[in-house]
Amino acid sequence: MHHLSYTEGQVTKMPIEKTYAAQLLEIEKKIQLYYPQADISLLYRAFEFAYEKHADQKRASGEPYITHPLAVVEILVGLKTDMTSIVAGMLHDVIEDTPATAEDIRQNFGDEVVTLVQGVTKLARIDFQSALNKQAENFRKFVLAVANDIRVLLIKVADRLHNMRTLHHILLQENRRRVAAETLEIYAPLAERIGLHLIQEELQDIAFKELYPDVYANIKSQLDTVYKSDKKTIHLMIKDLEKICQKFDIRAEVMGRKKKPYAIWKKMKRKNISFEQLSDIIAFRILVDSVADCYQVLGLIHSEYFVVPNRFKDYISTPKSNGYQSLHTQVIAPDQRQIEIQIRTFGMQQVAQYGIASHWQYKQGVSDRQGRQYKWVRSLLEVLDHASGSVEFLENTKIEMFQDQVFCFTPHGDLIELPKGATVLDFAYAVHSDLGHFCKGAKINGKLMPLRTELKNGDQIEILVSHQQTPSSTWSRFVVTAKARSSIRRFIRSKRQVQFQGLGQSIFAKLLHNVGLTLDKQGQKNLLASFRLSSLEDFYGQLGEGEISLQELTSFLKNQEVQEKISSKKGDCKKVSDKKSSLSGLMSGVVVHYAECCHPLPGEKIMGIFSKKGVTVHLNVCKALETAKRNGKNVMELSWGKRQTSFHIVRLFITLHNRPGSLGILSTILGERESNIHNLKITKRHEEFFDLFIDISVKSMRHLETIMASLRSNKNINLVERV
Ligand code: MN
Repeated sequence: MHHLSYTEGQVTKMPIEKTYAAQLLEIEKKIQLYYPQADISLLYRAFEFAYEKHADQKRASGEPYITHPLAVVEILVGLKTDMTSIVAGMLHDVIEDTPATAEDIRQNFGDEVVTLVQGVTKLARIDFQSALNKQAENFRKFVLAVANDIRVLLIKVADRLHNMRTLHHILLQENRRRVAAETLEIYAPLAERIGLHLIQEELQDIAFKELYPDVYANIKSQLDTVYKSDKKTIHLMIKDLEKICQKFDIRAEVMGRKKKPYAIWKKMKRKNISFEQLSDIIAFRILVDSVADCYQVLGLIHSEYFVVPNRFKDYISTPKSNGYQSLHTQVIAPDQRQIEIQIRTFGMQQVAQYGIASHWQYKQGVSDRQGRQYKWVRSLLEVLDHASGSVEFLENTKIEMFQDQVFCFTPHGDLIELPKGATVLDFAYAVHSDLGHFCKGAKINGKLMPLRTELKNGDQIEILVSHQQTPSSTWSRFVVTAKARSSIRRFIRSKRQVQFQGLGQSIFAKLLHNVGLTLDKQGQKNLLASFRLSSLEDFYGQLGEGEISLQELTSFLKNQEVQEKISSKKGDCKKVSDKKSSLSGLMSGVVVHYAECCHPLPGEKIMGIFSKKGVTVHLNVCKALETAKRNGKNVMELSWGKRQTSFHIVRLFITLHNRPGSLGILSTILGERESNIHNLKITKRHEEFFDLFIDISVKSMRHLETIMASLRSNKNINLVERV
């Protein structure tokens, strides 16, 4: 035979064992049926390579290992794949399980085969154990993302199918159950994703039988009973449906459809119903030539039988994401039972069974209503439409799904799904917001990398934390996920909030002290109610931030006093300081106001404007004096007395460095200098600085000078000016 003489430099060649030769011949015939131009010698070369490499290895069944790749190739040929997939299928375990290297395969079979075999090997090395029950969906996406070439998945699924078919040879029940669970969680849904419906059903059935043997047996026997007792009914129904089609000259193939135990089980679980309550155990399928025929048959059936409401589904105009198309309806059969009927074209049937691996020769209009995943299928279908056959289509197909995502692992093997461009910091926040806040770096695949490093598919990331580390606003520049961004923002905001609360608390304490009051429980309640706040922290925060003004607060306190809901701090010393003037040259009993326009301070030259309400003290340079004189008011010179007991308000403009603690430092300095904050308003916030106006109480000019000098000496305070 021509295939025995290929290996250059090898003089003698063992003839292929009889059983394998017969099997290979069968495979060869099948390939030639769908791919006559195929270079069949590749099949034999691949076989001999694998045969030699696997040598004496045995399967759990005791059979020679080579039976496994051969079986995988048979499954692939059943899917009508191209020669590259067939060769790669034959060699799929060679890198993983034998001394052969990728280079060996490249030299013998070329780059394409190597890439496929490496893809399958890569998938084999993924540890799916941590995925089960936790994030199976992520792992399925990950597989799709790393597989890159759809043929890798076809081989992987074929591999798994044969392993499941021979699962009973594995002795340890624990191992069988592990493989079965993995199949149910990962491989069956993957098969469904690429439309390999028949393989999906078989995988599920074997896995289900392994995992729930008693449930499986139960459902199976009930199904058998139903199908046996209804054999006649089913037969009559098929005849009925055929007649309907014939009457209208529609070529159709009608068949009864047996449901698999796993599908029944899933439905029972999903709908929380018993076997008896299942309405569609008996199902029929009608295959026709065209989409027009599908809808016509549907119309005929709906006019012939009672239709079960709300059961009609049109997957022709809206295909499923894996390309599945069909009409589904439910009607009442003559024996009063509900039956399901599926109507589709022969082409749709191909797709339903073999998905993207089906030999697509039908050009139905594919609807445009689709999501991203459907687009992927649609592009596959377009390739199919334009390719001469499944062979070219398979070679042209790359997996585009999930290319805008990266999948990374935690040190425990948990999988984290992130958008493309995501960094170490995104990863840390995706795992836990605390991990993000304290993240100072990371080891990517064991190598130390900075926070802003972009992640790649399959990276394993260990986050390094430090409790000295806290988020800075620059962090938000190199994260892409919303979670990281909002966590960072929230952290910075809450930190600032804490500072404001501290500030507000000291403002309030000093105000109470100045007026000589304390608030009891009821007073606090009234306070919160009056400002419509739910907690004292909120109140302090708003006060600190200047959202509650001192005037408002003072008028509240006055109110409280009137209502006698403020308890006196110390019986008789209700007022610690009052606004008693200490000006000389005034008669006692005259009410003194200090002007808001110029904030005169003891030590400065002052004038008083007299009115019925009392005297208002201004700086002697204040413009208000001229206006008063012009208006005929009584203006006269005043001077400060020797002892100054009262406080005077002065307004400062301050620029602070925008860093944690700055506001706290400001209030500390004022406290240490025995000044009191009366009001504070932040006017501008930059990345680096923020500006604020602050009203403080001072005793004298000298007091103010000391305060301003103290403020200026602090490195957190950039600018201090009297307004
Ligand atoms: Mn294998």
